[in-house]
Amino acid sequence: MAWLIAGGGIGGLAAAIALRRAGREVQIFERADDVRASGQGITVSVNAMVALGELGLADAVLAAGVRLSGAELRRADGRALMPLHMDAMEAAHGMPSVGILRGALLGVMLEAIGAERVRTSARCVGYRMDGEGVAMRLAGGEEVRGEALIGADGAGSAVRAQLLGEAAPRYAGYTCWRGLADVAGEELGEGGFFEMWGRGARFGGIPVSADRFFWYAAANAPRRGRDEAGEVIPRLRARFAGFAEPVATLLARTAPEGVLRTDIEDRPPTARWGEGPVTLLGDAAHAMTPNMGQGASQALEDAVTLGRCAEGAVAVAPALRDYERARRARAAGFVHASWWAGRVAQWEGGLACAARDAAMRVVPRALMRELTVRAAAMTRVGPR
Ligand SMILES: Cc1cc2nc3c(=O)[nH]c(=O)nc-3n(C[C@H](O)[C@H](O)[C@H](O)COP(=O)(O)OP(=O)(O)OC[C@H]3O[C@@H](n4cnc5c(N)ncnc54)[C@H](O)[C@@H]3O)c2cc1C
Repeated sequence: MAWLIAGGGIGGLAAAIALRRAGREVQIFERADDVRASGQGITVSVNAMVALGELGLADAVLAAGVRLSGAELRRADGRALMPLHMDAMEAAHGMPSVGILRGALLGVMLEAIGAERVRTSARCVGYRMDGEGVAMRLAGGEEVRGEALIGADGAGSAVRAQLLGEAAPRYAGYTCWRGLADVAGEELGEGGFFEMWGRGARFGGIPVSADRFFWYAAANAPRRGRDEAGEVIPRLRARFAGFAEPVATLLARTAPEGVLRTDIEDRPPTARWGEGPVTLLGDAAHAMTPNMGQGASQALEDAVTLGRCAEGAVAVAPALRDYERARRARAAGFVHASWWAGRVAQWEGGLACAARDAAMRVVPRALMRELTVRAAAMTRVGPR
């Protein structure tokens, strides 16, 4: 019997590849009609590239994206606050950070797993366990039997809802717009990651291909706000008017219909990720705010760890509990760190922001370099 995976996002596809490499048969069930439909860009951090390397995909991902040449936090007026030492991380761990279109990353993973293992327009609505494994229920009433069920169905996971009960995610107090500008990093003089901090607002971006630049803008706002069609770019221009270049250029070179607005949410960590032959993976297990660029990276680390625990395991449930034990603390650490990083980054008060910015500029660079390299070194993906 196959291992069933609910969700064909970054976590689900990576889990499938890792489990295949561990000798397991897999079948993915994705509610959308195309797993590559996801737009926008993403930073694949050094530790994510280490995990992709373990899946045999690092070269293909690098070829489909852009090696990020550096990373810097800046004030809204463009003055540097703090370098993030990507070069040192790359030197220490042998992998770069990469900017890539989500669709391109998912395309590389889909090719590795084989489209025949992915069933689209298939929404998981729950499961039931018995002595021989698990039966996943799909919308429409069909049941599919498997040896195990991996809930990789994102922050609104149906598998998680059955396992832990329905619970609303925690709103972080700010919303995020994402867009793709038709402009090359070279034209902007931006070959790496940048993020600019203002008062209650941030703007950042990365190159994701030879001629496209991905940007995001975060601003304190009530939950569930909406932008009228055609108003989004003018509104962003007004909200980020005090920000230095490349903000104005990026907004001017973006087609408004592609701009996505997302309320930033997470879920406080839970100790329970599974039962019997069922477990959670990626955002379904540990949805975090995007402030550390680690959501997908942690899903990739989950996948590699799951593969290692499954390899050669005679019984499914103990292998899943090994995986959960190996991953819980590290993922929870990033949930907390991302939440607090976002709180500080979204401060609004003039005095608080001035003190924050001054403090960032006096942190010794050697100390920051050491801390950054160590954070990326916590990438021992798995129990072995
Ligand atoms: C604004 C923003 C910026 C981000 N930037 C970064 C970044 O730069 N770097 C980074 O590492 N992370 C980033 N993240 C986080 C990252 O997007 C997620 O952590 C990552 O996508 C998690 O992958 P996943 O596969 O667990 O979940 P998802 O990407 O949510 O995938 C879940 C999949 O399951 C499918 N699905 C959902 N429900 C069902 C169901 N019931 N049945 C079947 N299929 C279902 C969905 O259609 C989807 O394809 C960002 C997040 C946000 C909101």
